Amino acid sequence: MDVNSLRSQFPQLKESVYGKPLVYLDNAATSLRPLSVVQAWDEMSLKHNSNLHRAVHKTAVDATEKFEATRVAVADFIGASSPKEIVFTSGTTQSINLLAACLENAGFFSEGDEILIAESEHHSNIVPWQMVAARKGLKIKVLPVDNNGEILISRLPELLTPKTKICCVAQVSNVLGIINPVREICEICHANGTLFLVDGAQGVAHLTTDVLALGCDFYAFSGHKMFAAPGVGVLYGKKQLLDSLPPYMGGGEMIESVSWEKTTFAPVPGRFEAGTQNISGVPTLVPAIELCKQLKTSEIEKEQEKIKNLILEAFEKDPDITLHGNPVEREKKIPLFSISVKGAHHEDLSLILDKMGIATRSGQMCAEPLMDRFGVTGMLRASFAPYNTLEEANYFIECLQKAIKMLK
Ligand code: PMP
Repeated sequence: MDVNSLRSQFPQLKESVYGKPLVYLDNAATSLRPLSVVQAWDEMSLKHNSNLHRAVHKTAVDATEKFEATRVAVADFIGASSPKEIVFTSGTTQSINLLAACLENAGFFSEGDEILIAESEHHSNIVPWQMVAARKGLKIKVLPVDNNGEILISRLPELLTPKTKICCVAQVSNVLGIINPVREICEICHANGTLFLVDGAQGVAHLTTDVLALGCDFYAFSGHKMFAAPGVGVLYGKKQLLDSLPPYMGGGEMIESVSWEKTTFAPVPGRFEAGTQNISGVPTLVPAIELCKQLKTSEIEKEQEKIKNLILEAFEKDPDITLHGNPVEREKKIPLFSISVKGAHHEDLSLILDKMGIATRSGQMCAEPLMDRFGVTGMLRASFAPYNTLEEANYFIECLQKAIKMLK
């Protein structure tokens, strides 16, 4: 597959903005959707719509089979031992909230316990833990990053104590684009008896994920950042850990038996999937996974490397640009770039780029503590996907330079 045939699968790339061809560089927020995903989505709504796991009629059985086949595909994609380790949610945010609430309900935390969170985390991997911490009297500790944005693993031994119950780190930072050494951190945490959660929201589409090799206890991600439908997400958990957790929400289909005297709950993962699930959205993970797999073995990966090098070199040459997230080894970064520009506000830059057809993100990117760490109120972010071209990367740099000149 080459980039042009890939682009032809994404109708939105043919759109224009203010009369300019759309250059979509906001992929870290949400990716565009290929026809295969839209077709799977439509097909579920137009042909197979029925509630899941309930009725015996053919349409219900078909819909349920598609839903459960997706669970198998997801387990295979991330290297889980069993589809039973895959819980469907509405996205990374719900996955992490579910986990935090279930651990709390399981009596996993006692007053004075600690939760360790990387300084570069998204609010979704901070706030749910702060909420539990406030309810249970826990202490949140921060695993810091250095000035390049790399996690200071050397600080782990002093931060981990017998009270550290869980450590939460993103596979890839949504601000810095840095691939964090989650496997190494996981090993150190496990040696301390600490559970380890990986937020895979940014990693799942860019990297090959193998949860068994990573060793993590839990892994969360969203469909909409990997070409699938929005409102679909996954929480992976090791089976024996999921088995030990009580439900998150009560309702239909998460039970084994209900009576006024006593209700018992379904085995995992059904126990965590109360109520009607995302019937049309979940099956879109199948074509999305198919595409992710194809991309990882295609020439397009090399194109992405070229884009990364081109942008990094352009930024290095410009003394007014500070790149946040500049690891010593370039391989530790995905093509996601957040910058500050001397004398130009990130939002003004993003608005000017928008008029040139380029969609970028500006602001705090749901990582306010990281903005504080770097002493900025926000950043400008350009995040590339495999359908972005070298030509678009060059156009971005050219337009950014024009925008900077206009604001100076
Ligand atoms: N974690 C990271 C690293 C993210 O980039 C995002 C989305 N920006 C989230 C969590 C939250 O994902 P969602 O909004 O799909 O729940």
